[in-house]
Amino acid sequence: MIPDPANALGNHLPALRDAAHREALGLYLHIPFCLDRCTYCSFTTTRDRDLQPAAVARLLREIPAWGEALGRPAVDTLYLGGGTPSLLSATELTDLTAALHGAFDLGPLGEATLEANPGTVDLDWLTRARDLGWDRISLGVQALDDGLLARLGRIHGAAQALEALALAERAGFQRRSADLMVGIPGQSLSRVVEDARTLAATGIEHLSIYLLDLDKACPLKAEVQAGRLALPTEDEVADVFEALQAELPRLGLAPYEISNYARTGAESRHNSRYWERRPYLGLGPSAASQMGAFRWTESAVIPAWIDDRGALDLQTLDPAEALAEIPLLGLRLHRGVDWGALRRQAIEANLAPLAEAWEARLRALAKEGLVHWEGDWVGLTPRGMLVSNGIFEMFV
Ligand code: SF4
Repeated sequence: MIPDPANALGNHLPALRDAAHREALGLYLHIPFCLDRCTYCSFTTTRDRDLQPAAVARLLREIPAWGEALGRPAVDTLYLGGGTPSLLSATELTDLTAALHGAFDLGPLGEATLEANPGTVDLDWLTRARDLGWDRISLGVQALDDGLLARLGRIHGAAQALEALALAERAGFQRRSADLMVGIPGQSLSRVVEDARTLAATGIEHLSIYLLDLDKACPLKAEVQAGRLALPTEDEVADVFEALQAELPRLGLAPYEISNYARTGAESRHNSRYWERRPYLGLGPSAASQMGAFRWTESAVIPAWIDDRGALDLQTLDPAEALAEIPLLGLRLHRGVDWGALRRQAIEANLAPLAEAWEARLRALAKEGLVHWEGDWVGLTPRGMLVSNGIFEMFV
């Protein structure tokens, strides 16, 4: 939504501008188009490519409007996600990139990531993207087994995924990441570890490993509910993550976040800002933003977002909610949370008793082997990571 005095964001513009100039922003663009819908997908995306020109035009209006509204703030990470950003034409990608350069101060830019589906890339497109300054690519591989990929409704096979990683390297993407999925019906523990080994051998610097999430309605969930497919048990999933945590560091990919592994220094800077609670602006349907005490999400109804008719979900965090987000997000990171800094922040906000109550519970969890303390830093143990959702409940 373009902020103006007539809408909710416009009312808070001075505070947003102030937050956007306190430190560099991350900028996310959501490209909500896919060739086909995967059977597990709950993202904001559509196969209706007829909407694509209007969606790109909308972004080309929003980017300069936001740059102007915020006073051309500095941006140090860019992320083009989706959907399938690799469905943008070379011209659309060029126009969007030029708009970003025109609207924001990209002087401090340290990382520009684009997501791509292995079934949609070719060398020309990748080379163009690289020439435009996109320097990191994240490919949704998910599995290297054609049967499992078909079950997921992916539009590519295993060979095509490996070929896409090789093409990206030829196009000059030295920074390559891949996504793998755990918990697919019919996927064995040894298969996941074997796929991770194969991907590591391609020289990727980063690997994201997600647990299949069937919370929302989707065709794969319907198959499971009908008893035609079975999900692995919690113990089987835990065994997979434990095996990966042992194997991936041997392959040079160290865990740095619950779902992410990287070579030294190759952690995703853009995604790290979410866990570190650094400010970001998200443009596009369903995109989320956070600046200062404000957090908002754009409408997920794509036609409504295109016409600026969609409802904006705007929240103002109170001091206790803002404090809770530090452990809620920071404990996802392997290095954990600087509890001394949190304690000081709590005292400044008159919330010392709240921080003390959390600390008492975290010390108790340490006795159960779920949390570890090193001086003033607290983090989850590998076992704690497996039950992190239960631990995080204390902060919400
Ligand atoms: S490629 Fe990604 S966004 Fe598109 S349908 Fe599949 S899971 Fe959803």
